[in-house]
Amino acid sequence: MSTPENSSEWFRLPTDVRPRHYDLTILSDLEALTFQGAVATELEIFNTTRQIQFNAGKGLTLGSVRVSLDGKQTSVAPYIDAEHERVTVQLDEPLQQGSHASILVPFRGVIDDSMMGYYKSTWEHEGKKGHYALTQFEPTSARRAFPCFDEPELKAKVTLHMLHRDGSTALGNMPADQTSSIDANGIAAALHTDLGVPAPDAPGAWLRTDFGTTPKMSTYIIAWANGHFCHLESEYHSSLTNKTIPLRVYTTPEYIHQAHYALQVKNLVLPVYEKLFDVAYPLPKLDTLVASDFDAGAMENWGLITGRTSVYLYDDKTGLQGKKVTASVQSHEVAHMWFGNIATLAWWDNLWLNEAFATLMGEVISLDHVYPEWNSASEFIVSHLGRALELDGKRSSHPIEIPLQGENVEDAVNQVFDAISYSKGASVLRMLSRLLGEDVFLKGVSIYLKKHLYANTVTKDLWDGISEASGKDINALMSNWILKQGFPVLTVSVEGDAIRVRQNRFLDTGDPTPGEDATLWQVPLALKTVQNGKPQTDFALMLDEREKVVPLPRAADAVWKLNAETIGVYRVAYAPEHLQRLGKAAAAQNSPLSLEDRVGLVSDAFTLAQAGYARTSGGLALMQELRGDKSSLVNQAAALNLQQLGSAWWEQPEGVRDAINAFRIDVFGPLARELTFDFGKDDAPELRELRSTVIGAAGAAGDPWTLAQVKERFAPLLDHDDDSRIDPDILRTVLSLAVRHGGANEYDVVMRVYNKPPTPRHKLAAMVAFGYTQDRALLQRTIDFVFSGKVKSQDFMYFFMSLAANPSSRRMLWETVKARFDELAARFEGNFSLSNLIKSSISSFSQEQDAKEVEAFFAARNTAKFSMSLAQGLDSIRAQARWLERDAQNVAAWLKAHGYERTE
Ligand SMILES: [Zn+2]
Repeated sequence: MSTPENSSEWFRLPTDVRPRHYDLTILSDLEALTFQGAVATELEIFNTTRQIQFNAGKGLTLGSVRVSLDGKQTSVAPYIDAEHERVTVQLDEPLQQGSHASILVPFRGVIDDSMMGYYKSTWEHEGKKGHYALTQFEPTSARRAFPCFDEPELKAKVTLHMLHRDGSTALGNMPADQTSSIDANGIAAALHTDLGVPAPDAPGAWLRTDFGTTPKMSTYIIAWANGHFCHLESEYHSSLTNKTIPLRVYTTPEYIHQAHYALQVKNLVLPVYEKLFDVAYPLPKLDTLVASDFDAGAMENWGLITGRTSVYLYDDKTGLQGKKVTASVQSHEVAHMWFGNIATLAWWDNLWLNEAFATLMGEVISLDHVYPEWNSASEFIVSHLGRALELDGKRSSHPIEIPLQGENVEDAVNQVFDAISYSKGASVLRMLSRLLGEDVFLKGVSIYLKKHLYANTVTKDLWDGISEASGKDINALMSNWILKQGFPVLTVSVEGDAIRVRQNRFLDTGDPTPGEDATLWQVPLALKTVQNGKPQTDFALMLDEREKVVPLPRAADAVWKLNAETIGVYRVAYAPEHLQRLGKAAAAQNSPLSLEDRVGLVSDAFTLAQAGYARTSGGLALMQELRGDKSSLVNQAAALNLQQLGSAWWEQPEGVRDAINAFRIDVFGPLARELTFDFGKDDAPELRELRSTVIGAAGAAGDPWTLAQVKERFAPLLDHDDDSRIDPDILRTVLSLAVRHGGANEYDVVMRVYNKPPTPRHKLAAMVAFGYTQDRALLQRTIDFVFSGKVKSQDFMYFFMSLAANPSSRRMLWETVKARFDELAARFEGNFSLSNLIKSSISSFSQEQDAKEVEAFFAARNTAKFSMSLAQGLDSIRAQARWLERDAQNVAAWLKAHGYERTE
């Protein structure tokens, strides 16, 4: 075989030969933790060729390949390029264009704990322990479980047969047609052991389950599982097809009592999607399997969604936040049944088409239909838009649609599952939807879906659909938002009866070069003005050049605001006096500025200060003005920004750090006292969230009243394991603060919660709490525990989260990562988690010398699997260092002038 000149050719299989149908048999031996199979693939020959190339992952052992052409069969030894996970079958006779051939490949592999391919998970019930196996294929791990053409565009039908032990359950994408017993001869025949992979030594009684044939589908959404599962069932009647399909949630026995809500969500959102898209859910069933070991949050396998326990399980002890997570993740995955599964990205550079849509449809639009009281559309500004702009403000960010680079497809693809593909993509779509109106936008989406049923798409296909619905040139409007890195910051100044608006590329270091500042975006200005006390917004006003002067009578003293309702993917820098005017208007009774406006103002003020487009004192003054605002989202935005300020200032003099905390206590403490810790069962969601937000923020700043309450609420847990005084929505706050301000006793109590958690969220709260201890010995105990072998790989990130947030352990965490880097790299090989862990362990530093030290450490190491996260973490350190250089004095002076200096 010759080496391609351009290494990126390794990414793609040749297109001479494409699969039509996989007939796939898998035997799962849960005792030996091995699997074995045979796959017969029908092929279409598009160009005459002597070669068939497909993928097989590391760890898969193949037998001979039997090639069938026109009734003639030949056996060929495959050439395996393990490094590039590619198999070549060289033929003596060419396969003629237009002919139909097939290949049969036997294989075997190990059911390991990699959380990729066909892997092992564990259960524990009534004193017994065991394991089961399930698949995770996205993006490039189907090839670890069976030889296949593992690219999204190479769609084929799949007929699955599972061989499994009697008494166990087999699940696949489609419903099981039949289950029958099978003997050793039957197993050997089904696995084609004559092709060089000997029959497994697997005594006992075995079953064969045959599943129905799927529609044409991509390999990454194929799924199966085998184990001892329980399930809950309901059904959905489609008004489009008049068919009734079963809906189920499967868990291992210990969790089934907490699976009702995840099932209910499917019933709630399916009719919404069918109505909005006017396309029926296409498969005859929709299952969800809840797994104890899972790398991502959840996965949209067609007809068999999978996901974490902490995402899917819910009961009364889980709280509102947990309920929202279950609803939004389930709804996101169900949205993928259309976006991604029916119409699929052509290649991974268009990942955003899948993820941005599922995020916007699943977490905002459908939830707004089902739970209007949750205010999901406004929450989006704090969650997704904020995340998007934070990452995209970095020099090391990337365009939404990204050409994949590098030697290894898995490394390159894994790294684009980030806030750009999900959150920025969704933010850009939301902007478009607000600009056109949601009805027109969704009409365009429906046109797009119907045009590309069971096919593959690129971004332009979507724009064509929305152009048809809106009559506008959407491609021209959107192309820079999708193809260019970054987003603009608008600088506005008053010129008589007009404002001058200028766009430049935003960078969190505030220093774009002319080359980096070349993009001009089409920016919807959404200018809000107030006339006769009533707000009015001009959504048609666009900025499509560098600068524009917009007439605005009495601009110097009127209340006006750009980016009304925070619909846009940009920041706005006002002159300090106008920001003050907006702050006053925002704080006024019957304010013309909406909740979304206020949240946007707070986020903009602090982000612009961090990046040097404004002074931090302006953000602090705005926060002082908005003190006492009773909306949970404004408080969430404020808490987040002040927490980031405190975090960046972690090595500043103690007096300044105390003054920052005194300010935070002044902002959140009075509201915490007013609202108290007494949650009511019938509290509105808004009140519940406001209370948990201000308690968390006041407690984090060290508010004495809040800490006394925490102590009192924690006491029964300390005494006799009674957590009834702690509402689930402040569980994480209470456990974290109890550990932070307590000692070994508090730590031990939280360890008991960890070991016997009533819900997965209790366990999650405990994992986060351990990292907040201030005691060096207990911090070491936490770190030792993480690496003791007792912590699941999927859970490392929760420990890292607080160890990085806690100033007392930041450096310990980084020292640990350095010392154990090889161990981490091996443990998380091929997972999404490694890049998150590396990023969280470095991103809180705020000195240039730390950035240099991180660079020096990785200089001689292979960073291909997390190069983007590493660069982003380094950018964070440097942005924080510059922020301090610019504004350390400014912050200290403002705090002193406003009486927040320590007085004792
Ligand atoms: Zn998704």
